[in-house]
This record gives sequence, C-alpha cells and structure tokens, in this order.
Amino acid sequence: MTLDVGPEDELPDWAAAKEFYQKYDPKDVIGRGVSSVVRRCVHRATGHEFAVKIMEVTAERLSPEQLEEVREATRRETHILRQVAGHPHIITLIDSYESSSFMFLVFDLMRKGELFDYLTEKVALSEKETRSIMRSLLEAVNFLHANNIVHRDLKPENILLDDNMQIRLSDFGFSCHLEPGEKLRELCGTPGYLAPEILKCSMDETHPGYGKEVDLWACGVILFTLLAGSPPFWHRRQILMLRMIMEGQYQFNSPEWDDRSNTVKDLISRLLQVDPEERLTAKQALLHPFFEPSTMHGR
Ligand code: ADP
Ligand code: MG
Repeated sequence: MTLDVGPEDELPDWAAAKEFYQKYDPKDVIGRGVSSVVRRCVHRATGHEFAVKIMEVTAERLSPEQLEEVREATRRETHILRQVAGHPHIITLIDSYESSSFMFLVFDLMRKGELFDYLTEKVALSEKETRSIMRSLLEAVNFLHANNIVHRDLKPENILLDDNMQIRLSDFGFSCHLEPGEKLRELCGTPGYLAPEILKCSMDETHPGYGKEVDLWACGVILFTLLAGSPPFWHRRQILMLRMIMEGQYQFNSPEWDDRSNTVKDLISRLLQVDPEERLTAKQALLHPFFEPSTMHGR
C-alpha cells in the first residue's frame, strides 16, 4: 500500500483510517453508545450497505489507564465477535481496522434497528411473536455459553432486527471468556437487567462471584418486558429497584398479564430465580413447554 503524506507519528493512525475510508463510504448515524458512534456505510466496490461502529480511543477525555482499558476491552470485543460470527442469531463482523485513536468494526446492517424501538412502537408483543424472538435469543445464548462466552449486556437495545424481522444479538462490549467453574466479580451491565448475584457480589467481599447464569436472568427480564411492555423491576429510586432485584420481587399484576398463559409465566419464574443454581440454563429454557410447537399457548 502506498502512503503519500502524514507526519511520522501520525502515520499508523492515518493509515488504518485511510484503509477504512478507501473501502467504505460512511453515511448517517444510526446508533450511539458511551464511546462509540454507529453509522450506515457503503462498500465502495459493490455498493452494498453495512454498519460501522467507530470507537474513539484517544487520550483527550481519558487517563492513560482508562485508555488502555478501553483498548483492551475493544480488542476483547473484536476477538469474541470473530469467534461467534456465523451464528444465524448473532451479528456478523465483516471487517475491522485498528489505528492509534480509532477502531472501526464493520457489521452486517440490521435495517429494522433495535428490538427496543420495535417494542416501544408496538407497546407489548403477542406470545406468538415473543416465542419466536426468545427462541432465537436463547439459541444465541446457548451457543455463546457452549463456547464459554458470557454476554453480560443482554437487553432489547442490543438485539437487532433484519429485513425479515429475524433477530441478531449484538454489542459484545461486556462479553468475556469464562471457563467452566470460573467466576467473575466485576459490576457491569445495565441496571434493570443485572442479576441479583452481580449486585450481591459487588456488596460482599466473601461472595463467591457470578457466572454465565447472569445472561439467563437478563433473558427473563427481556421475556417479561416483551409481554408486559414494561420491565419487571422498576422504581424511580434506583436503590429500591436494586433491592427489588436482589429479592426477586416482581408481579404479574398489570392488566396485560390477564390474558397471558400460565406456561409463559412459569418460564419467566424459572428464569427470574434469585439463586443462580436454581435458574434454567439456555438449553433447559429451550426445552420448556412454552417453546413446544404442538400445544396452543395463549394468544
Ligand atoms: P455500544 O456498545 O456503544 O452500546 P452498540 O454495539 O450497542 O454500541 O451499538 C449502538 C447502537 O447502534 C445499537 O443499539 C443499534 O441501535 C445501532 N447498531 C449497532 N450495530 C448495528 C448494526 N449492525 N445494524 C444496525 N444498527 C446497529
Ligand atoms: Mg449497546
């Protein structure tokens, strides 16, 4: 590759960015995160559209330690994305470029956007539609767990929809490898979706830590939310919401639940189990009667 300009210290950065811009033409912003912007982009050679997640890893706003943390996290995200690409319900990483101040991750474009926005528009989903979404989600989670990967940020904002309304799981920013028996202690994720053991472990040094069961708790929160149109654990004072989570305190008492099957309520209660040992695994959840095709469940 030939490079014509650029002061020496800026060269690596400029080169990687140039490589991206030569191949892709970035367009409108379609999503934003804490340290990333996601844009639609066009592959110049073919005219095909993709999504690019551009992450800034410059020192401007960050201390050297924070910067290294962000870099390390981004490398981990890319590594895991490469490992899981190809699953029908996981986002496909097409290409990646790393420079000293930016990372570009090119993905398949999910044109229908976030499950979160779809739910907001529909208010609540039918059991039939929920079944199809949850089956795909649990298949993706089962695949991750079988590969010793825990996602740690499952929520409708990170579940994307394609043209055919099929879902793909995305945002592996908090994902990590976890060997069987290995435990984690780090407090990360999104408050409303945090499993009780994540919260307990952050408050108690003697707690043994948490494992991949946290993803199944989040699946329970998602399942509840899709059917009710509102989350199981919510209080305007966050500390009270966290207490509700730790006590597993939620109710099926809003009017939406009157018409819902006992089968789906049973599945929710087996996912929202405070004790991670008692909680269903992804494989067990997929075998729950809610997913049996032969029986009729609710609407
Ligand atoms: P963050 O780690 O900052 O949350 P995400 O990977 O979740 O970043 O991306 C932020 C948002 O960008 C998503 O919630 C979604 O709205 C949008 N987005 C991300 N990837 C895609 C994609 N492949 N296709 C369409 N939209 C996407
Ligand atoms: Mg996200």
